[in-house]
Amino acid sequence: MNAKIIDGKAFAATVRDRVAGTVERLKAEAGITPGLAVVLVGEDPASEVYVRNKGKATLEAGMNSYEHKLDADTPEPELLALIARLNADPAVHGILVQLPLPPHLDPDVVINAIDPAKDVDGFHISNVGLLGTGQKSMVPCTPLGCLLMLREHHGSLSGLNAVIVGRSNIVGKPMAQLLLGDSCTVTIAHSRTRNLAEICRNADILIAAVGRPEMIPGDWVKPGATVIDVGINRIPHPRDKGKTRLVGDVDFDSAAAVAGAVTPVPGGVGPMTIACLLANTVTACSRAHGLPEPQ
Ligand code: NDP
Repeated sequence: MNAKIIDGKAFAATVRDRVAGTVERLKAEAGITPGLAVVLVGEDPASEVYVRNKGKATLEAGMNSYEHKLDADTPEPELLALIARLNADPAVHGILVQLPLPPHLDPDVVINAIDPAKDVDGFHISNVGLLGTGQKSMVPCTPLGCLLMLREHHGSLSGLNAVIVGRSNIVGKPMAQLLLGDSCTVTIAHSRTRNLAEICRNADILIAAVGRPEMIPGDWVKPGATVIDVGINRIPHPRDKGKTRLVGDVDFDSAAAVAGAVTPVPGGVGPMTIACLLANTVTACSRAHGLPEPQ
């Protein structure tokens, strides 16, 4: 293996320490405790784990965590009424509605009901527009985590060729905006892209956000490139029958043989996503109180 392994877990720990330091100062100097409300509708097991982890991390950073668990058949007006209450609650600085929602709920309606200033996931249409026009916004946590790791590894990203495989609203598109903001030359690929292998081989920065286990092999990776693997896929364990394991969208071993740097799954992008959620909550809290934003 040639590649440096980008340790997202360790980097996330430094971000979380910084957030905890800011929270301590907000409490001591302004008497404010940042608060994050997480809303879970239904009993999707993966979502339950995510929500539990987010709540735990929020408390560990010294913030208040408010969890709202609603039945899977909750009518839309009831969910919107809860969001309206959270919007009006001064103790709540960040609101996150865990996706995916049950099929009878329209995620666009629900997300756009959140006060954009409290939209710590950065999915509200106002934040999407602000990000797209290079204005101050709430930035989606997963792409933000990827950007921070890239900046940490490269310093300046200016002029680098970035290829993002995946064009979702929550990862691919905001990732492209962020990399444009850092002056990369950005290509977004998707399921209809022709010559995907060739396009990937041109990437100084290759970001995989597809949701297909180990789809990108090492011979799609330009020698020395930085590979960020956003994918989280659970597959049957190759040796332990009946068990499963997590893999990314990149074939880690073959990619690590040619890349300059690569994020592992697990332990790469995932921990940074949660760290950025905490950072966004503190940013939202500071903005709400007219205080300087944490760096
Ligand atoms: P989506 O399913 O919303 O989007 C997947 C994208 O991949 C689509 O744009 C799709 O193209 C594209 N795609 C699918 N098949 C191919 C293919 N064969 N070749 C090229 N492109 C393809 O997924 P998300 O963006 O929500 O998530 C992507 C992955 O990242 C998932 O594994 C998810 O679990 C993970 N994830 C991880 C997070 C973390 O914290 N680490 C957070 C969020 C997501 P098209 O648009 O044409 O259909």
